[in-house]
Amino acid sequence: MAFKEKGLQMSNTNHTPETNEPQLQGGCLCGAVSYQITNRFSRFMLCHCRQCQQLTGSAFAANIFTSPKNIEWLTGHDKISNYRHSSRDSSKSFCAVCGCALPYINQNGKSLIIPAGSLSEQVENTPDANIFEGEQASWLVESFLNPSVQFAVVPNPLSNKRISL
Ligand SMILES: [Zn+2]
Ligand SMILES: [Zn+2]
Repeated sequence: MAFKEKGLQMSNTNHTPETNEPQLQGGCLCGAVSYQITNRFSRFMLCHCRQCQQLTGSAFAANIFTSPKNIEWLTGHDKISNYRHSSRDSSKSFCAVCGCALPYINQNGKSLIIPAGSLSEQVENTPDANIFEGEQASWLVESFLNPSVQFAVVPNPLSNKRISL
């Protein structure tokens, strides 16, 4: 797969003094854990497997792959908990306080997996592939394709007849 080296259009982008490469910051919701990485990614995958659905509580995991050495933990490294599935290549690191997904090294040790949602800044990269399509949540596709059920915020009142809570 092609190696991506796109820079970011960020006004407040930080740079490492050594390489002058653009840096991205990320962290968890409660603010205990924060990290910094270089914007140097090899793959961006949306994984629809059943394990990722359970790990995220959502339809799929959005995972960015980079080198295991491409991370600097800024705060809260001691707050990180880890889970490794006993038989599948499923792992998760998360903040022990708020439960948010955080970067982790995959089980073969070759990649650092960054949950895209843990980044505080927008990345220009778009996903390279959807994987485990066969396990995709049945409700996912229709919800994306039907604009009549999309709102910028939670609608109040819920006027669309297709939505009932
Ligand atoms: Zn947290
Ligand atoms: Zn998965």
